[in-house]
Amino acid sequence: MMTETRSAEETFRLGMEIGKKARPGQIFTLIGDLGAGKTVFTQGLAKGLDIEEAISSPTFTIVQVYEEGRMPFYHFDVYRIGDIEEMDEIGYEDYFYGNGVTLIEWANLIEEILPEHYTEIIIEKDLANGFDYRRIRIEEV
Ligand code: ADP
Ligand code: MG
Repeated sequence: MMTETRSAEETFRLGMEIGKKARPGQIFTLIGDLGAGKTVFTQGLAKGLDIEEAISSPTFTIVQVYEEGRMPFYHFDVYRIGDIEEMDEIGYEDYFYGNGVTLIEWANLIEEILPEHYTEIIIEKDLANGFDYRRIRIEEV
């Protein structure tokens, strides 16, 4: 599926619609450059899970856990990961194969440990269409 958004608000709403339909155990991978809108999308998805708490990028922790929504939400941002072993130290399998929803920003950096199936979301700018334009592709892998 391919969608286009023309504001952060639109990307937020797309995330929210997907969050509303999310099922326990589902994994979302987010791929896109810095500033593409991965965190904006994540904030919408969290809202769709009925999480009211503010979502920020878990820059120094790699994973941030939210328990207040319809189901647990595990928000990974692996941008600063140095070595894949850091994921083992975090105990990532408990999240990936648990009963909450997992979302991974910069998932391309940990490709080797991604599960067999997940929902891949790729966000791209295209400046020819303006600064706020984003092309968002969603695919079941
Ligand atoms: P990332 O997490 O991918 O690094 P962020 O979500 O933190 O990016 O930031 C995206 C930035 O781009 C925000 O400042 C947001 O307001 C801006 N923006 C402009 N247009 C869009 C759009 N269509 N979708 C998402 N964000 C947008
Ligand atoms: Mg981010």
